[in-house]
Amino acid sequence: MIISVASGKGGTGKTLVATSLALSLNANHKVRLLDCDVEEPNANILLRVGIRHSQAVYVPIPGVDEAKCTYCGKCAEVCAYNAVAVIKEKVLVFAALCHGCGACSYLCPESAITEERKEVGVVERGDSENSELIQGRLNVGEAMAPPVIREVKKHINHGSVVIIDVPPGTSCPVIEAVKGSDFCLLVTEPTPFGLNDLSLAVEVVRELDIPCGVIINRVGVGNDEIDQYCHRQGIPILLKIPLDRNIAMLYSRGIPLVEGMPRWRQEFLRLFENIKGMVAASRLAK
Ligand code: SF4
Ligand code: SF4
Repeated sequence: MIISVASGKGGTGKTLVATSLALSLNANHKVRLLDCDVEEPNANILLRVGIRHSQAVYVPIPGVDEAKCTYCGKCAEVCAYNAVAVIKEKVLVFAALCHGCGACSYLCPESAITEERKEVGVVERGDSENSELIQGRLNVGEAMAPPVIREVKKHINHGSVVIIDVPPGTSCPVIEAVKGSDFCLLVTEPTPFGLNDLSLAVEVVRELDIPCGVIINRVGVGNDEIDQYCHRQGIPILLKIPLDRNIAMLYSRGIPLVEGMPRWRQEFLRLFENIKGMVAASRLAK
């Protein structure tokens, strides 16, 4: 079972939910948490496993042999990411924009392009009893999160409950992290910004055909527009977490919610049972 935990915007409590679910389940299940929030992986502040392995992630970047190049411009034409420009007798490669797709080297008529490896981040692994953590970390200044996320997702193990902490937003890294999930939990807060970003995230998971449910965090801070929206859209609200000074205090001290307030463990176990039921129903309906 692969459960992704996403949010249309940052700071809604996505990592709180992902780690609480992982720590609630690990007494009876093998749990593997994949932290795909590679610009700022912070699940391990709460999970606290020892990191034992680290592996660099590389992307192939084109290098141009000027002796062979005829400056035909084909490479710039085929690059969907504007990572190559041919200006008179010069080929410019903007490595930060390159997605490493290989199209330019494949289609260069003079075979003037070779691929050079560039390190863009690392994948780190660690574990404790019944919990494993795989986290991606994008190098500072790098813009391309998807290659690091793809490497993290190679560690999906179908013998475990896999929980994916998804980057915030609704762009390419989110799609890369969420796709292939059995279920997506969307964490939001009851504010106009929360509603706006939730509705964008719902569009993404519907496009990917992944069943979803909502968790509203910091209930009490705003209004009930999220409830109304979910009702209109037929999206289940699976859990509400109140605006509570004690919860915020635990989080700021790096103490997991289900350790500092053990009654929440039952709530997250119930949440997991609900998700299992919805995944089974969705598979039957397909
Ligand atoms: S496609 Fe090849 S030959 Fe043409 S400009 Fe690019 S590198 Fe040079
Ligand atoms: S590898 Fe792909 S993204 Fe990178 S420069 Fe070539 S065509 Fe563009």
